[in-house]
Amino acid sequence: MELVNFQLNIPLRRERFDACLLQTGRTELRRHGVKVLQINMGKLCNQACKHCHVEAGPRRTEIMGWQVMERLLEVAALASIETVDITGGAPEMNPHFRKFVEALTELGKDTIIRCNLTIVEEPGYGWLPEFYAAHGVTLICSLPCYGPDNVRAQRGNGVFEKSIAAMRKLNRAGYAMSRDGGVLDLHLVYNPLGGSLPPDQAALTADYRRELGSRYGVYFNDLYTLANLPIGRFRQHLEREGKLDAYLELLEENFNAATVDHLMCRDTLSIGWDGKIYDCDFNQMLDMEIAGGEISILDPAFRPESLLAVPIDTGEHCLGCTAGAGSSCGGALAT
Ligand code: SF4
Ligand code: SF4
Repeated sequence: MELVNFQLNIPLRRERFDACLLQTGRTELRRHGVKVLQINMGKLCNQACKHCHVEAGPRRTEIMGWQVMERLLEVAALASIETVDITGGAPEMNPHFRKFVEALTELGKDTIIRCNLTIVEEPGYGWLPEFYAAHGVTLICSLPCYGPDNVRAQRGNGVFEKSIAAMRKLNRAGYAMSRDGGVLDLHLVYNPLGGSLPPDQAALTADYRRELGSRYGVYFNDLYTLANLPIGRFRQHLEREGKLDAYLELLEENFNAATVDHLMCRDTLSIGWDGKIYDCDFNQMLDMEIAGGEISILDPAFRPESLLAVPIDTGEHCLGCTAGAGSSCGGALAT
């Protein structure tokens, strides 16, 4: 069946992913549970990167209000929720960011903030390294190369230099200063510049560690390699270059059954800036609400367990999560 996402005018060809899934004996994807709440605080960002699946930027006005955050604090307090993962845009630009993170960390849940690094260098945000450290949050930061040229091509002029300056400040605040991890973790995220699969995560980690340490004197804990999903600005870029079909074929040919048990949608819920719920951040960007929008996290009776009976909504974009070593918000899935 071919559905069309009218908002983005993208055909969602389910059968392409379904045919791959069938190789694992499944006709659909189901959740193992709901352990992680991934909260998208809005599309406002200080950058406007070429590959951004959120299509975030400095002029976006969609940001989460405090009323939604109050409800999310109630859900995050449930015993089944182990981790809260905050993303955006640049979540730090939400005016309620500090108050929300303070309240979340008081709940005692593991808290992750997905930081684009350059926000630390923006005027008015110099407080961030100490704030992150004081609240013991884990940082997952985008840095798509250990040298300036690829970062400039993907994220814009001056982004690499600002990212290195931000990493120095985060290292000084205590991030990534324990090689064994544990106390204040700073993980980096790599994604390819174009329509290829990410290289081997362990080998690339060694390259990043060597180059960033020796050339710039900055440190991190782990590197997560992510594939670009064929949605948003990246999809438009592939279409303009006439490379979309070749990329989809590459993803399909490299379907890896070993990734399926570990897909992030199987234990994570993604929450939009307006409180709508989705199977993952990608489905959120495609406006594919769980159960067609009939279940709301804003409903005081909502319980994550109710979603165990609801199948995960899939489409051809899911091929990006299952290709090669697999891809998730925590990096490769089958290393
Ligand atoms: S990729 Fe990240 S840093 Fe770049 S525009 Fe999107 S949200 Fe902002
Ligand atoms: S895009 Fe990935 S995480 Fe989202 S539903 Fe598909 S397989 Fe799951």
